[in-house]
Amino acid sequence: MKDKFYGTILQSEALAKYLLETSAYPREHPQLKELRSATVDKYQYWSLMNVPADEGQFISMLLKIMNAKKTIEVGVFTGYSLLSTALALPDDGKIVAIDPDREAYETGLPFIKKANVAHKIQYIQSDAMKVMNDLIAAKGEEEEGSFDFGFVDADKENYINYHEKLLKLVKVGGIIGYDNTLWSGTVAASEDDENNMQDYLRGCRGHILKLNSFLANDDRIELAHLSIGDGLTLCKRLK
Ligand code: SAH
Ligand code: CA
Repeated sequence: MKDKFYGTILQSEALAKYLLETSAYPREHPQLKELRSATVDKYQYWSLMNVPADEGQFISMLLKIMNAKKTIEVGVFTGYSLLSTALALPDDGKIVAIDPDREAYETGLPFIKKANVAHKIQYIQSDAMKVMNDLIAAKGEEEEGSFDFGFVDADKENYINYHEKLLKLVKVGGIIGYDNTLWSGTVAASEDDENNMQDYLRGCRGHILKLNSFLANDDRIELAHLSIGDGLTLCKRLK
């Protein structure tokens, strides 16, 4: 295995390393560092699924600017973006965090507890679509329109379906973020390139391309497609 793979779409790994080492790692919360390192130990290559530190810091700043109190996290893994979110919310903040993979969540949980933010998190071991449907059906508790922010970093083929549900759950003026929307740069690949892609990249490229075109034409949202991390699309609900 290479020394370290930065999983970056920047023009060089050296530039990604510079950005992380100069600006992001020196300000990374100690438990985020510990969670990242425990994830590398256990998951090796697939630890790249954690959002990078600069993206975590961006999400954290955005949540504070928004004064977000209630968020939904779709795709937890070991919880790097979850812990970044939990640290950014006020003490009475709440995160509904959904992922069928409890073992991954429990890998990060000791660090979430050590950071004293576990009380903000309601972890639900489930498929996200089921939970979203349940939330929308739970009329009495008025979950619809109650979330300030949603972060989607799960099964790419369902992003478009999650979008319809999240436009109900997130309030008007709230934000939905979709992660990996530049898909390691493969969104701009040619058909020739496609033959040389790793299977997991080739497999979801079509879904990401479809999502990006869909969101670009969706007048229910204001759109900002950012080239941070592996691509992060922010959608502000307008109506
Ligand atoms: N945001 C995380 C990384 C998430 S990786 C971080 O920064 O650390 C993607 C996760 O999506 C995996 O843990 C996978 O189990 C989860 N996932 C896959 N299908 C899902 C589904 N249908 N519902 C919810 N989560 C799902
Ligand atoms: Ca991701």
